[in-house]
Amino acid sequence: VYLTLLMGCAGDPPSPPPDVVLITIDTLRADHCSLYGYERPTTPFLDELAERATVFENASASSSWTAPSMASLFTSLPPRSHGVRTGFYRKGKVVNQDYLQDDFETLAEVLAGHGYRAFGVSTNAALTTRTGFAQGFDALTELWWEPAAVVNEHVLRLRAELEAADRYFLWVHYFDPHAEYVAQEPWFSEYEGSPPPATATGPEEATRREALEKLKVSIEKYDSEINYVDASIRKLVEALDLESSALLVITSDHGEAFLEHWTLSHGQSLFQEEIRIPLLLRLPDQRESRRIDAPVSLVDIYPTILDALSLEIPSGLAGTSLLPVIRDGRGPARAIVAELDRGTRSDHSLTWQQWKLYQRERPNPFVRLFDLRTDPGEREDLSATETERLRELTERWARWKATWPYVVAPRKVAPFGPEEQERLRALGYL
Ligand SMILES: [Zn+2]
Repeated sequence: VYLTLLMGCAGDPPSPPPDVVLITIDTLRADHCSLYGYERPTTPFLDELAERATVFENASASSSWTAPSMASLFTSLPPRSHGVRTGFYRKGKVVNQDYLQDDFETLAEVLAGHGYRAFGVSTNAALTTRTGFAQGFDALTELWWEPAAVVNEHVLRLRAELEAADRYFLWVHYFDPHAEYVAQEPWFSEYEGSPPPATATGPEEATRREALEKLKVSIEKYDSEINYVDASIRKLVEALDLESSALLVITSDHGEAFLEHWTLSHGQSLFQEEIRIPLLLRLPDQRESRRIDAPVSLVDIYPTILDALSLEIPSGLAGTSLLPVIRDGRGPARAIVAELDRGTRSDHSLTWQQWKLYQRERPNPFVRLFDLRTDPGEREDLSATETERLRELTERWARWKATWPYVVAPRKVAPFGPEEQERLRALGYL
């Protein structure tokens, strides 16, 4: 099936279309996964799965917080063009978020149009019916901030419907390892007190070392949460036997900062700690392991899934199918863009080969240029010395920006009605 999908070999009997399973893990930065060389064994299941899957070494989120990134995944459009850019949480609920407009054809809608039954289980209040993310799904289960074990329980409740479906698209969004970080055992005890891996300590500035000392426990908890979600994914994949039947995509919506550039959490910047995410793709019955260096983005998932199913890819998408790059190991050079445009903050980054242009428009504008190959931690700004490179990337950004219209979402999410407020109060959210 793997080769048939990739090469479209003539003469083989047509295989039935596979199920499609998209697993998104909130707030998972790639370099804290052992899948990407982290010294703590945080992702043993993904490590195993990678022996029969394709791993993208340089995958980027489209933004550094949930709503714009996930809207980009589902529309294959950059945040500026799908319009989901702003919105905040207050007391656990979503306030004033841009609504994902109904006129985009989302990944779920296009698959539903091809006979897929579509089911989603979402744990993030930014990704609900109310915010426009249920488009195309037969059912979207909303479990705000619940841990992976509860998520699995709800997915398994869908088992009869999944089995009855001729073909299905299942999207599961896990909330761990998002803050508040929980000490997950037995992993937390294994990491507790051990020196943080070098990749988690970054630069050597004494002030930052001191600050990191205070973060040690947070990082130990964060890492233990990665183990917990990894173990939960193993349970789900085994329970539904997804390895033999499904096209499987596992990724994240954004990373998490631990003071690498003096910020914490996410949605604060577009430095790599906030936008470099894991991406693993497994074609049904894939036997070979692949590692791909070419830079890719969340917007590529939508066309890749359609291509793998031999379905027509709609025009006007920002992403491109990754099947050619899986086949050949290298893809055409192209710009990978991330945007953060939220209230008082407006940032964008454009990565071209190993070069990353990072511009902040507001507040406190800056222009920086990094060579990610020699400086993955983005410590050394080369904008003053690599002036020719800076000019080239700035021109690419201008061309890219001219290609993608800036859409202002015509709707914000509606405030909760009295009935919903009552329900939320009962659940303890208000
Ligand atoms: Zn998120």
